[in-house]
This record gives sequence, C-alpha cells and structure tokens, in this order.
Amino acid sequence: KKYVYYFGDGQAEGDGKNKELLGGKGAGLAEMTNLGIPVPPGFTISTEACIAYYQNNNQYPEGLWSELSEALQRLEKSTGKGFGNVDNPLLVSVRSGARVSMPGMMDTVLNLGLSDETVAGLARKSGNERFAYDSYRRFIQMFGDVVLDVPHHSFEKIMRQMKKERGVSVDTELSTTDLKELVKKFEELVKQETGSPFPQDPMEQLKLSINAVFGSWNNQRAKTYRKINKIPENWGTAVNVQIMVFGNMGSDCGTGVAFTRNPATGAKEFFGEFLIDAQGEDVVAGIRTPEPIADLKKLMPEVFGQLEDVYTKLEKHYQEMQDIEFTVEQGTLYMLQTRTGKRTAKAAIKIAHDMFNEGLIDKKTAVLRVTPQQVDQLLHPMIDPETEYDAIAKGLPASPGAAVGKVVFDADTAVEWAERGERVILVRVETSPDDIGGMDAAQGILTATGGMTSHAAVVARGMGKCCVAGCGALEIDEHKKELRIGTTTLVEGDFITINGSTGEVINDQVELVEPELSQEFADILNWSDEFRRLGVRTNADTPHDSTTAREFGAEGIGLCRTEHMFFEGERIDAVREMILSESPQSRRRALEKIKPYQKEDFLGIFRAMEGLPVTIRLLDPPLHEFLPHSEQDIQKVADATGLSFNQLKRKSEELREFNPMLGHRGCRLGISHPEIYEMQVYAIMEAACELKKEGRDIQPEIMIPLVGHVQELAELRELTVAICREVIATYGVEVSYLVGTMIELPRAALTADSIASEADFFSFGTNDLTQTALGISRDDSGKFLPLYVEKKIYGEDPFVSIDEEGVGQLVRMGVEKGRATKPDIKTGICGEHGGDPDSVFFCHRIGLDYVSCSPYRVPIARLAAAHAAI
Ligand code: ADP
Ligand code: MG
Ligand code: MG
Repeated sequence: KKYVYYFGDGQAEGDGKNKELLGGKGAGLAEMTNLGIPVPPGFTISTEACIAYYQNNNQYPEGLWSELSEALQRLEKSTGKGFGNVDNPLLVSVRSGARVSMPGMMDTVLNLGLSDETVAGLARKSGNERFAYDSYRRFIQMFGDVVLDVPHHSFEKIMRQMKKERGVSVDTELSTTDLKELVKKFEELVKQETGSPFPQDPMEQLKLSINAVFGSWNNQRAKTYRKINKIPENWGTAVNVQIMVFGNMGSDCGTGVAFTRNPATGAKEFFGEFLIDAQGEDVVAGIRTPEPIADLKKLMPEVFGQLEDVYTKLEKHYQEMQDIEFTVEQGTLYMLQTRTGKRTAKAAIKIAHDMFNEGLIDKKTAVLRVTPQQVDQLLHPMIDPETEYDAIAKGLPASPGAAVGKVVFDADTAVEWAERGERVILVRVETSPDDIGGMDAAQGILTATGGMTSHAAVVARGMGKCCVAGCGALEIDEHKKELRIGTTTLVEGDFITINGSTGEVINDQVELVEPELSQEFADILNWSDEFRRLGVRTNADTPHDSTTAREFGAEGIGLCRTEHMFFEGERIDAVREMILSESPQSRRRALEKIKPYQKEDFLGIFRAMEGLPVTIRLLDPPLHEFLPHSEQDIQKVADATGLSFNQLKRKSEELREFNPMLGHRGCRLGISHPEIYEMQVYAIMEAACELKKEGRDIQPEIMIPLVGHVQELAELRELTVAICREVIATYGVEVSYLVGTMIELPRAALTADSIASEADFFSFGTNDLTQTALGISRDDSGKFLPLYVEKKIYGEDPFVSIDEEGVGQLVRMGVEKGRATKPDIKTGICGEHGGDPDSVFFCHRIGLDYVSCSPYRVPIARLAAAHAAI
C-alpha cells in the first residue's frame, strides 16, 4: 500500500482531484504542481495513513516510514540540501490538511530541521544571521506549542517582555542578539515545562510533528468543529511535508493570503493582505496589521504580475473562486495553498451569477454553487436603513448582516446565556479555535485585532454570522469583564449592536429589518425553479405573511392555521362566549359573531394568493387554550367581558387535560362540536364565492386535522361538502374546492389507503407526526432531547430535520398507500421540516408534490428542491 505521494519539479504523484486521499491542501499542492505553478516541492502522507495510525493503536502502518525516508531523500536531492546537515540544512514545514478545510483546527509547524547546530549553518549559508535565528525562535515556539503542549501564551509572554525591555513594538525591530537570547529563553521554557531539552534531532522532530498532526484530528477543537459542521469523524487528515521557502529574509520577502474575488461582496476583484518580512502565520494571527494586497503592486510589481497570472490560471482551472496563500522569497513567488474560497451568502450569489455570465460555468453549476444554508443567511436581519444611530467605533466589515445582543467576553458565557434564550455578542481581543462554540451561540462577533482574513472573520463568514473584526478602538479587560471605547465603558450584559456590513459598533439596541432580495438572488432562485420538481408553498395565517411568501416565490399556501385568528382583538371574547355556551344553540349564536371576522380573514388571504391554492386547516387546538387559567387572569377576563367568574373558572377546570396534545383537539372538536367547523366552512366558502363573483381565481382546499380513523374524515367530509354545495348554490358560481386531511398520527399513516378514499389530498403534519411517532412531547423535549442529539442517539433534532428512519417511513408509507387507493391524490408536507434542506431532499426522494414552510424559508426550499433534483 502506498502512503506517501511526492510533488515537485513540475510533477505530482498523487491525483490532484483526490481530496479524500491527499486532503484538501495536499490535493491543491499536487494540482498546482501539475499546472506548472511554482510550488516548493514536498510530499503528502495520505489520510489512509492517518486512519491506519489510529486503527493501529497510534503506530505507523507497515512501510510508511521507509516510503517517507525515500521521499525525504528525493527532496534532499532536488534541493541539494541535507536534512540535519550542519552546513546546508534542509528545512521543511509539516502541515495538516483534511478533506475539507477546517480553519485553525489542525496545526502547522514551520522551519522544522533547525537545531542549535543547524541554525548556525543556516546563518552561514544564507549570510543572514538574523533570519536564521528568527526562523529558529519561530520553530521552537510552534513546535513547543503544537507538539510539546507548552502553552502558546508562555512564549508570547517572553516575547512581549523582551519587546518591552527593548522599547520596540513589532518583532521585526528585534536585533539578531535579541533573537538569539529569545531562542535561549524559549529553550529554557521548553525544558522547564516538559522536563527535557528541546529535541535536536530533525528526524525525531519530524516524527513527533507527524504524530501531533495525526493527533490533532482528535483534539477537542477539531471535534467541536466537526460537530458543528457535520464532518464525519473517520475521514482522518493528511500530512504535508514541504520544503520551506522564506518570507522572513528581509524587505524583498513577504507572505500573504488572498481571494480571487471579494469573499464578502463577491465583486470581481483580487482581494487580500500581505506582510513584508514575515512568515505565514503572521498574517492570520494578527500580530502585525497586514497591508491590502493592492499595495503589493507598488512594492513588488513583478511579483504582483506573476500573482495575477497564477490566480487567473487557478480560477479558470477550478472554475471556482480560490483562496490562496503565497510567500515571496527574495523576489521569487511561491504558491503554498489553493482551495475553494469561503464566502458570504451574498458573495456566493454574486460569484455564481457572474461566473455564469462570464461563461465559466453553466446554469446548473451556478445553482449548485449557492447552498440553501447560505440563502438562509441572506434572509437574516440587517439594520433598518431608516434608523439613525451613532457608531461609537468602527472596525472591519468582516461578515455582513447586523446583530443586537448583550456583551459577553468569553465563549462559555456566550453558550450559557444563549442557552437560556439571551441574545449575546461575543467580544474578544481575537478569537481562537477554542471560541468556536461561543461563536456559534452568539448573534455576532466583535474583535479588537486581526484583519479580514483573521480567524474571527473567516469562521464568522462560514457560519453566516455577522462579524466586526479589528476594531482598534476597543480596550478589552477580560478579567473585569468590561470594555472601553474612548470614554464609554460597557460591562458584561450591556446591549450593543454591530453592523458587519459597515464595521460599525453601536452602543444601543438598533432596530433590525429583514433584507430584500437582490436581482442576482432572484435570478438564481428563478434558475432553480427550472430544475426543481417539488412545489413550494408557504405556511401563512395572514394576508401580510401570504404576500411576503408570494414575493419569495411561494406557489400557494400549504397550511393556513385558523386558530391564530381566534385570538385577535375582540374576537377572543366571542370565542370564549362560544366555549362557555352550554347548548349548541347558544354556541351557534356565539359562532355567528366570530364568522364575519373569519370571513374577512379568508377574503384577505384569498386575495393575496389569487390564482394559487390555499389550504385552510379547520380549528385544531384544544379549547382550553382560549381560556384564562390563573384566578387572576380569570378575574380579568370576567371583568372585561361581563362573563361570570365562577362560570369561567368551572369551565376552565372542566376542560383541563392531562395530555392536551393527545386530548380533545383537531377533528375530535369537529366531531363533538360540529357547529364550530360548520361556521368555519361557511366563512371559507362564502369568502371564496364572493371573490369568485368578482371574477377572481380562488382555489380553496379545506383540511381536517388530526384524523386517525377514516370514519372521522368521512363524517366531517360529508358535513363540509354539504355546506360547500349549499354556499355555491346560493352564490350561483362555480368554485372548485378540495377536502383533504393531515396525516399526523401514526394510525393515519398506517391506514392511509382507506383514509385516501375520503381525501382529495394528504398534508403530512410532521410536527405532530414526529411527536406522536417518537412519543416525545414537543413542548417537553427541551429537557432531554439536546442530550440525545449530543449523544447521537438521534443524529439531528428530529423536530428540525425529519427522522427519516422512523417518521420518514410513516410518510413514505402514507404516500404509497394513499396513491394505491387514489393515484392522483395530492401530497405535501407542512411541518417545520418543509424549510429544512435535508428534509426537502427527503420529500423530493419520496415523490411528494410539494413542501410548505414559513415565508422566509421559501427561497431556501426552492433552492434545496432544485439541488435535490439536479
Ligand atoms: P493553515 O491550514 O492554518 O492555513 P498552513 O499549513 O497552510 O496552515 O500553514 C500556514 C502558513 O504557513 C501558510 O499559509 C504559509 O504561509 C506558511 N507555510 C506553510 N508551509 C510553508 C513552507 N513550506 N514554506 C513557507 N511557508 C510555509
Ligand atoms: Mg494553522
Ligand atoms: Mg493555509
């Protein structure tokens, strides 16, 4: 078995497309090598070696070490240097690289091969002593931190101390003597912390580093990142060992990171940052503030020209926006990494749209380039443009959108507060991978240092979170838990607003609004419509929601809940009167008062959805939801309505249930109090007929909830149809209507064949179906379900993403059985799952006709449905 793949001198052994084997970084290095792009030679140890290492009780698999030694010899031959050679030492970097990039999760060691002896050799050979010791102190720190577990900040502390003593502010100002002293101090620190001297044998250094990279796959940060991003545990990481090129040899050297297009806006412009006289990590670590890439054109015009050629070539080759890392050694450009660039949702849309117009990709690809999750981000709030506010500080607009929340200074607090339902903004000097959990929990992230490619910026963009980075005016005191901006002091718990689109920080809660769709976004969604098979409807209860959803492209209403209408304004009084009625006659009288309101509602919704189907669900919740419960509330209602306190109290007690969700609700209300459903059907059909008379195209679909037995539906269907006929006859118009049911009880799914004989359509109510199939109360699951998900008993919260194995089987069965009886029966889903991309994929696979989701999720569902079909 081959574990080691060489790249260099214009040719790579590995297949640059094979990220599974070589990892993303290794594949990119191989591909660039084959394209004739200047890449320092090296070799990739495959992910298979990493997996074998784990399976083998942390031992290298057979043959790995000898392959590795061979590759190392090849590198020596190619460079004319020797690994551990005192006169002309070969230095390498050891870089981790999983299949997908995991920013900052895995670790890299630079300048490996240096020791007390070889550093002197490097100084002599390069004629640059300062550079040699600068490289050595970097190596000891990185190796110490990553491999030997000596805390990063202990090194930093020594460094800070030295800078302070020398009166300098940046590391490039330290002299050669300073750096030599620093090396000594670093070595002492390592000895003190680990009990052994800093390892001097390059082979041992290499082996320990490879082990550390393998090991970092299973560190806590990496695990957390995988959990959030749903990356499988068993992929493993590759290790890249590569000849060092040096950006820290002086002013004709440098290093940088860049995107081939703007990752925040998507604009077609080269975008990035660089530092002169620095090594790789400096740019992302935010140690010195990097300069915009455009300035490199003035400083090194030739290099900049080459860089432009390279990035254009890469973008053409990959047909994708690239995120690249490069180093310039004494005027020569080397590429160190290329990968698909992370981008904001806005940028994803703009880039896909532009690349289609440029002829770089086809329409299908353009649609696939935007993920449903990204669309979700675009539908997040922004600051209302009408609002006036004063910013107290400005940082970099690192990730767009806006967020309002309480200031917290550490990730744990962010998680804790968010769990109890608070909105928080995580404020840090700079984020590190340890903060991932807190960043995920926060509404937004604000940092004091770091650029547009800092950890905070990259991770926030990936998460679709608003982020303001590098806000230099912030003075953060983590211990006191307070921050100062000029004369303003904020403490933990104070509200702020941050605007990730402008970089502004506002000392207040600012009104946020929902964003509008750009033309490019609309185009992408329209292109998706060309590919999808599933229909997309919306869950809407008001004309306003209906209009919004229609603007987002909803093709009708899949679920209109009528109970919300019962609560509004003065209607609730009539509703309560109805519930308190002791006889059907008095109940009817109360219902007559409610009917005009209901009809008005339906008129509005039908108008908003003219020409499209509107599924209206008859009353579903148990009646006691409409009554007051505490004595205090009962008194209030009694005073307000003139109803008797005792009567209200007695009724409220009478209606109390042990398991309301399994109690007197849904069609059971229709069976016991038919007059309620009668009133609703009259209201629906009268509204439909009136509009029909105006010449409008109205398509009502009446839906009976919580049916478990065909007989329930048969009885209520008869009632419904009789009223519809009567109203249609009265108005003398033609209105075609459907009568169907929800499938939301296991029994309904199991007997869907007989239920279908009474139904024109099935709408799978997957919220209740999940609740009843799993026997997990939606309203009580908060206490234990998160633990279930954490323990992976359920891979996902089954109320968010449909439990395919269980609930999904019931849905599938319902569809099959329904169609066996009635081949053209309409089928859809109207639970929360309708807007969840994975669930949409499932609905596509099992052949539903449509999904229905909340208005703001309609674009997500459209795109997800297209992805499912492509
Ligand atoms: P990450 O995954 O965190 O980006 P990398 O392995 O890409 O880690 O290393 C970080 C940086 O280290 C690179 O961007 C590059 O600037 C620098 N680097 C890595 N390998 C080399 C090398 N062989 N020569 C010079 N610089 C290197
Ligand atoms: Mg790194
Ligand atoms: Mg990198």
